[in-house]
Amino acid sequence: MARVTLLAWILSISSGYFLLGGHLSRLAEGYDPAGLSNLPLIITLFTLIASLILTVLWALGFTPGSQELSEDSQPAHSTRRKFLTGGLGITAGIVATGAAAIVRNFGWYDVTGRHIFMVQPPYKADVAKGEWKNSTVTDYRRLGRTDVMISDISLGSGSSTGGRQTVDVVREAIDRGINYFDTAPDYSEAGSENRFGEAMIGKREKVFLATKFCTPKGHLGPGTSVEEYMQAVNGSLRRLKTDWVDLVHVHSCDTVDRLLDENVHEAFDRLKEQGKVRFLGVSTHTPDLETVANAAIESDRFDVMMLAYHYGAWPQLADIIDRAAQKDIGVVAMKTLRGAKHRGLDLNRDERDSFTQASFKWVLSNTSVSCLVISLWESGQLDEFLYASGKSLDESDIALLEKYQTLVRGNHCRQHCGECLNACPEGVPINDILRHKMYFEDFGAQKEAILGYARLDIRADACLACNAVCSNACPDGIAIQEQLREAHKLLRLV
Ligand code: SF4
Ligand code: SF4
Repeated sequence: MARVTLLAWILSISSGYFLLGGHLSRLAEGYDPAGLSNLPLIITLFTLIASLILTVLWALGFTPGSQELSEDSQPAHSTRRKFLTGGLGITAGIVATGAAAIVRNFGWYDVTGRHIFMVQPPYKADVAKGEWKNSTVTDYRRLGRTDVMISDISLGSGSSTGGRQTVDVVREAIDRGINYFDTAPDYSEAGSENRFGEAMIGKREKVFLATKFCTPKGHLGPGTSVEEYMQAVNGSLRRLKTDWVDLVHVHSCDTVDRLLDENVHEAFDRLKEQGKVRFLGVSTHTPDLETVANAAIESDRFDVMMLAYHYGAWPQLADIIDRAAQKDIGVVAMKTLRGAKHRGLDLNRDERDSFTQASFKWVLSNTSVSCLVISLWESGQLDEFLYASGKSLDESDIALLEKYQTLVRGNHCRQHCGECLNACPEGVPINDILRHKMYFEDFGAQKEAILGYARLDIRADACLACNAVCSNACPDGIAIQEQLREAHKLLRLV
């Protein structure tokens, strides 16, 4: 009996560490409590109660199989001692379970310091202007051959920020005229889809809904069967509480093989026949963007392309967007804030507060772009962002974007360019690491960044003792070794 009881307490403390601690970690990061599963809390509580009951039974002298308590057969002083020990054990067990949950988060605190509670969204104006209040979408554009009119500024929920979106803010986005939602199963480990699903109850018809061929655990790679692709979409439909999605993307596509994988196309055709999907898209922002995007346009199999696009993007990107538009492929722009470093730059307050709107206006000044998607999680961000809807770009916007470009030169990696990658003999994924660094420093998504870094096959350890043959490999003048060393210091947990 003593061993079973001890085992139960070990289980309880482990639940405290892994389940309750994980839950607290999400809350600390700013995730909407309503969007988190209560299962970790229930399991921890269950193991605690079970341990408590087993301890009491042990103190009473219960022996499994005997069906009886053997209290009478024990000397009184032995029973008292057992009760005392049991009482202490219960107290210690409860304290240890709680402490384990807190200890799990100490690591985060060491790394994130004062940022752990995410006091303010990182890309929101310092001071909201009165005229922004209650802004709504004022321009709708045609999404290529889908022939659907969508809001020029639309709702994203990217992996680094989607977990903070609340059902209320998503509903408010619909009420303010946003009618294009972009999500994916792996954004916040299905949290984004769950939240959208809840927010769309009774409003589904108002939304053009895009998700990805993907699972909450990650991307579907080469060798995925037709059935697995279909199951992935069926999982999305369950979480989104809908019978259909309007658009499904080949997610974060990095190779032409993945793009043209017959299995994904067969799965799409079957799902379309079943009325579960309507259009096929591809999202890409890897160094192979140009190859993948060109192949997508040539294949003529895709209705929509989602591309990283911002002021200062490489010139070929505008050509790709134009050619896509000529084939009537809808273009959705993402990562439009070019790292969103404006709040940490030497800009005056007005410039900092106008930066998001200037960026959006520039992206939308390209008439081949159907819409841009932006992750947001506060009502105030809707005010600020939607104020740019339907507005024209002017000279002051260009001047601000030019100034931003100058200030971030040498400090902002255009991850999809990848021109430095062949320079590293160790195969360090320079652009991926700098992307996680950006999530940490500029998006306020410290934990997601650290987790993303931990999941990379090759990290920046190799840069610590290296003669940096990559030193001149970046056309933007980024000091790659220095940045990677900083990233490693910032993103590793120990
Ligand atoms: S470090 Fe420079 S070369 Fe490498 S991906 Fe970033 S911007 Fe491109
Ligand atoms: S510092 Fe060395 S290991 Fe690191 S990216 Fe450059 S060449 Fe590769």
